[in-house]
Amino acid sequence: MDSRVKDLTGQKFGRLTVTSFVRSEKGNARWKCVCECGNEHEALANGLKRGQVQSCGCLQKESGKKHVSNLRTKEAQQKAYERKLEVDSIDGTMKSALTRRLSAKNKSGVKGVRWNEDRKKWQASITFKGKVHFLGRFTKKEDAIQARLDAEAEYFKPILDK
Ligand SMILES: [Zn+2]
Repeated sequence: MDSRVKDLTGQKFGRLTVTSFVRSEKGNARWKCVCECGNEHEALANGLKRGQVQSCGCLQKESGKKHVSNLRTKEAQQKAYERKLEVDSIDGTMKSALTRRLSAKNKSGVKGVRWNEDRKKWQASITFKGKVHFLGRFTKKEDAIQARLDAEAEYFKPILDK
């Protein structure tokens, strides 16, 4: 062992207990440690002293697991996933609502509102959770758009409020 290297044998850093000197590395010393979990792990003296290295890696693995277990059950994870899908589709709808254009050339320009040529009426509908809900036919386009907006509020707001 290099005489300038401070002997850390037997010292404990977090879960690691230093067992033996490995070698000097650019003024740093590499030490062999044994972790509380039983794994052997080599670490640099600086890392140990600064508290950057506290385990063979099992500590990080465990805290990572803890994070996942915050979503306690598979059911909760599934719910979170479904919720995300719902919110994503809402985002899509809301975005389309914001970017909709009401030009004269465009039949309606509004998602869920379209001209019914046979009946000469504006027809409104909304797709929610994969199901199309018919909202009615209207003489005035504005009424159809309003029906669509009302439906968006009715169908999507409860989820947004959740
Ligand atoms: Zn360990």
